[in-house]
Amino acid sequence: DARIEGFDPELAQAISDERRRQEDHVELIASENYASPRVLEAQGSVLTNKYAEGYPGKRYYGGCEYVDVAEQLAIDRVKELFGAGSTEGMYANVQPHSGSQANQAVYLALLQPGDTILGMSLAHGGHLTHGAKVNISGKLFNAVQYGVNDQGLIDYDEVERLAVEHKPKMVVAGFSAYSQKIDWARFRAIADKVDALLFVDMAHVAGLVAAGVYPNPLPHAHVVTSTTHKTLRGPRGGIIVAKDPSEDLVKKLQSIVFPGIQGGPLMHVIAAKAVAFKEALEPEFKAYQQQVVKNAQAMANTIIDRGYKIVSGGTENHLMLVDMIGKGITGKAAEAALGRAHITVNKNAVPNDPQKPFVTSGLRLGTPAVTTRGYVEADCVDLANWICDVLDAPEDEAVIARVRDAVTAQCAKYPVYG
Ligand code: PLP
Repeated sequence: DARIEGFDPELAQAISDERRRQEDHVELIASENYASPRVLEAQGSVLTNKYAEGYPGKRYYGGCEYVDVAEQLAIDRVKELFGAGSTEGMYANVQPHSGSQANQAVYLALLQPGDTILGMSLAHGGHLTHGAKVNISGKLFNAVQYGVNDQGLIDYDEVERLAVEHKPKMVVAGFSAYSQKIDWARFRAIADKVDALLFVDMAHVAGLVAAGVYPNPLPHAHVVTSTTHKTLRGPRGGIIVAKDPSEDLVKKLQSIVFPGIQGGPLMHVIAAKAVAFKEALEPEFKAYQQQVVKNAQAMANTIIDRGYKIVSGGTENHLMLVDMIGKGITGKAAEAALGRAHITVNKNAVPNDPQKPFVTSGLRLGTPAVTTRGYVEADCVDLANWICDVLDAPEDEAVIARVRDAVTAQCAKYPVYG
């Protein structure tokens, strides 16, 4: 049998169960989304068979004429997406296998082991790859970390103070859990003051940036990375982009990705990136991203009305952090209770969290996935109320059952793939 189902029923069942879970659970993990059938088609294509070490027009293997077309399309389109109106002077590498590998490439291209970097701490909303001790970025480099103030906001004066004190070679801006806009120009001014490079990881907000609903870091940063599977709604993968980089910077970035840290590029994923970037250039994508933010704001306002705290007081993007310190429920317990109600979220540390990282006192919620399904503000208000019902009574199975029924009906109204 040529299909998985007849050959490997156990695996076929897992795939089919996961498909059903995606349809009948509501997905609020801020870093997730549903790739389009076109993206899935490209990822499942014969391009997976091709070795193409090198770059378009300069490969170490024969037979690359068609995958060259796919990679060049991805490069041209990503330049258009993030070029802020002009592809003039844009640089793009679409080969990083993931966001973490894109970040690793940037560090290894531009720094020496032992150099100082200044990034946002994981505990305050940064990513592991921004200098966390358990990550290679925190092991290989002397990582100094900034966080947020008592209002849950980045304190730029404090970032500047740390930069002046520690003289980093690189300042890292970007986040996995921060719900406000970032002042990229201010970050650049801080980096310039200490002669550091400014590296922005826009993984979480790349889709919003592409649609013009969140400030574009490209005009300010020396180099920018992103994942392609979060708000950008493409295949799982990474990119590196820059506006007007020096020739030296381009050379270093190109050669660190290949042959520095990667071998053959995943041409099926690069083709899927190309089709996702084309989708992101369509006018509907702007409307989608505007709705993502409106939905997040509707959720945040409802949660606040119900007496829970949102870190920083609200959201200007696709995500929010619910701070449950003093509410008698941990992030871990809340994640489990909501899971029983078919609401998928992740526990997340909040600033000054008294709980351990595997327990936490917070939840991170995001609206990219539900907005792809077609949810509008009223749906998100309902959803936020159901979440608060569960948080108010996490051990009341009758409440959980009622919410699960409501969630199931809501999901049925908005099929993902049909
Ligand atoms: N950068 C940021 C800001 C992220 O939030 C993430 C993923 O959560 C990554 C990088 C890593 O991406 P990947 O999981 O593709 O390695």
